[in-house]
Amino acid sequence: REYGEISLKDIDQVVKSSFPLCMRHLFEKLREDHHLKHGGRMQLGLFLKGVGLNLDDALAFWRAEFSKKVGLEKFEKEYAYNVRHSYGKEGKRTDYTPFSCQKIISSTPGAGDQHGCPYRHFSEENLRAALSRMGVNSRAMEDVMNKVRNRHYQLACTLTFEAIHGTQCDAGINHPNQYFSDSQKIFQQ
Ligand code: SF4
Repeated sequence: REYGEISLKDIDQVVKSSFPLCMRHLFEKLREDHHLKHGGRMQLGLFLKGVGLNLDDALAFWRAEFSKKVGLEKFEKEYAYNVRHSYGKEGKRTDYTPFSCQKIISSTPGAGDQHGCPYRHFSEENLRAALSRMGVNSRAMEDVMNKVRNRHYQLACTLTFEAIHGTQCDAGINHPNQYFSDSQKIFQQ
């Protein structure tokens, strides 16, 4: 597999190894509920585009989940357009870029929304549970929670990255797609 490309058959594995918590959460929620509200579809969809999922795979990915909830017909009518749109294939043909950490952290998820930055938007209890599922040990967990309490969300994410990968991340995390590519570089060394 070439660096910078992911395909559908690899996706479950790369979610576990290389997705930052914000995207892993959206992915898991989508699998669980077969649905995400608009903010979540944008945040995850543009991230997936950024990691190299092509349009056909993206359509197949969203279709597989959404059709379980809303049916195939409604997916094609109401949601497929938006997937193509975010790839710049509809409307004004803007090629939308994936969201940065800053943008995600400053978003304001409402009831039922799954987007946002977990370090900022999760309760402490939910964040701890999610981090432990990611494999963060209890020592690193306290360091992460310390950063969260001081509202250093990107530093909290950087410490998570370091705990999981067992290596320094000197540049710090400032973009979910950077988290992904830095992680993939480590695994492909
Ligand atoms: Fe995602 Fe950035 Fe928050 Fe990490 S700091 S979870 S990459 S938004």
